[in-house]
Amino acid sequence: MTSKTISLNQLVAWLNKFSELVSAQCNYLTDLDAAIGDADHGTNMVRGMTAVMNAITAAPPSTIGDLFKVVGMTLVSTVGGASGPLYGTFFLRMGVTSGAVSELNGAQLLMALNAGMEGVVARGKPLANDKTLFDALAPALHAFAISLNSCHSLSDAALAAQTAAAVGRDATASLIARKGRASYLGERSIGHIDPGSASTALLFEAFAEVFSGE
Ligand code: ADP
Ligand code: MG
Repeated sequence: MTSKTISLNQLVAWLNKFSELVSAQCNYLTDLDAAIGDADHGTNMVRGMTAVMNAITAAPPSTIGDLFKVVGMTLVSTVGGASGPLYGTFFLRMGVTSGAVSELNGAQLLMALNAGMEGVVARGKPLANDKTLFDALAPALHAFAISLNSCHSLSDAALAAQTAAAVGRDATASLIARKGRASYLGERSIGHIDPGSASTALLFEAFAEVFSGE
């Protein structure tokens, strides 16, 4: 396990990069949702992450717990739809688990991420291969944990998470949706990437970028 610590500022940089990526990929996310949902995932995520960055800039949180709580509350109150409560719960649980600290080590970040994922599971009840964002999130955190536990650097572990999230995203194309709006399509959802898995892959693309060189 790496001994590197992760600062509050690096976590803000992660969120900022995620916000930039969802804005740059807004049409892509919305097009994915147009195929098997209601064509709003890109605009939902951009609205949410823009509000998050505005909130953080207006009142910079002084602890990592507060940072993630603000992120979660802002996403719940601005995103709506299925993804608002899911991403919101993810960050709220990360905040509770992180606590009033100004830095985390790799093991603590992993614990916070896993708590976030448990929140997603508690709220959305996704199972593996239900064709949801969980199909990118779970493999990403699994790969991150294995890499950290093999004494790899934070940078390598974050890259492993990014790759696993992208593989999970691509694998959703061949699945039948069993949760959310896309499930109404049944077999007609086959052949399309799940939009939430695509935004989660961006979350880990941002993650790898911010921790490259660590
Ligand atoms: P909505 O479906 O309400 O329009 P979005 O389009 O913003 O909301 O988000 C849709 C995404 O939410 C899906 O692509 C899927 O990844 C995710 N999702 C929907 N329902 C669930 C669920 N029960 N568990 C996990 N993820 C879900
Ligand atoms: Mg939608």
